[in-house]
Amino acid sequence: MQVPAPVDYERALSLDHAIELLERYGPDAKIIAGGHSLLPMMKLRLLQPEVLIDLNNVTDLGYIKVESNEMRIGALTRHSELLESPIVSEHFPIISEAERVIADPVVRNRGTVGGSLCQADPSEDLAAVFSALKASVVLRGSKGTRVVPVREFHSGPYSTVIDPGEILTEIRVSLSSPCGSAYKKVERRVGDWAIAAVGVVLRVSNSRADDVGIGLTAVGAEHYCAYEAEEFLVGKELSEETINECARIAAENCNPSADQRGPVDYKRHLVEVLTFRALGKAVARCKGGSQ
Ligand SMILES: Cc1cc2nc3c(=O)[nH]c(=O)nc-3n(C[C@H](O)[C@H](O)[C@H](O)COP(=O)(O)OP(=O)(O)OC[C@H]3O[C@@H](n4cnc5c(N)ncnc54)[C@H](O)[C@@H]3O)c2cc1C
Repeated sequence: MQVPAPVDYERALSLDHAIELLERYGPDAKIIAGGHSLLPMMKLRLLQPEVLIDLNNVTDLGYIKVESNEMRIGALTRHSELLESPIVSEHFPIISEAERVIADPVVRNRGTVGGSLCQADPSEDLAAVFSALKASVVLRGSKGTRVVPVREFHSGPYSTVIDPGEILTEIRVSLSSPCGSAYKKVERRVGDWAIAAVGVVLRVSNSRADDVGIGLTAVGAEHYCAYEAEEFLVGKELSEETINECARIAAENCNPSADQRGPVDYKRHLVEVLTFRALGKAVARCKGGSQ
């Protein structure tokens, strides 16, 4: 059985306390939220922090609310809370659809949105979703607070721009932007990580795409985004032909690797099909007037 190396443990009692503990212990300390990614990495000795700072008692970091025309999600919000939230399903079906296919109830009851974004796993579903939504994250440390677009937050596989003394406290999504969204994922079996997945957010005026967000996961897309495909679609009439071409561009410009989940060609094929289907669903939702 794999066991982690010995580690000290501190329970943060408030956000300020957590920041103070991070400051005190420096880069050898790690925040633990749901622990679903951190603990497996410690068991495999891929990470050996000296101190774990537990955020789970900072319960005021768990919320979903609407404020200043934004949906604001606290970092400690669990996957299951996102899945069950009427605010989320009303405004952003892309999030509900992604949550339905993230892992299983055990993981969703414990894993957090903040942990998911900070883990920066290349197959992370919420990273693609929040990139498609062009969301922002709020980072707090002893030097103050900064707001960073999600598209600038992930700097590569398992890496982000967060400083060792900072904590991700909130995710913000503008409520004025999307009018239609959808998430499509193919996995080997229920609850598995994606072979490929695509999230789409569209705003449409006069049958043309005004604003387009396309997030990809598990296929090596930079910042989880299909930039070229988004650029192609902006200003275009949303016909079967343009959607098809947009999906082709998304597949052409991603960068999947061959692994136990499949060869490169298969993953590119999935990106094309899933982008086409997600766009079709988002367009239908725009036309239906529902998001
Ligand atoms: C069996 C299994 C299947 C899974 N399947 C999927 C899947 O299909 N799709 C998917 O997207 N995910 C999947 N996951 C991952 C799951 O979503 C995790 O919950 C998530 O990756 C990490 O969230 P966590 O709260 O457990 O973070 P933790 O494991 O506690 O932390 C992860 C990392 O983030 C840091 N961190 C956590 N919170 C903060 C914060 N607020 N500020 C700064 N740093 C922070 C930690 O220091 C650590 O480095 C799966 C996990 C398991 C165990």
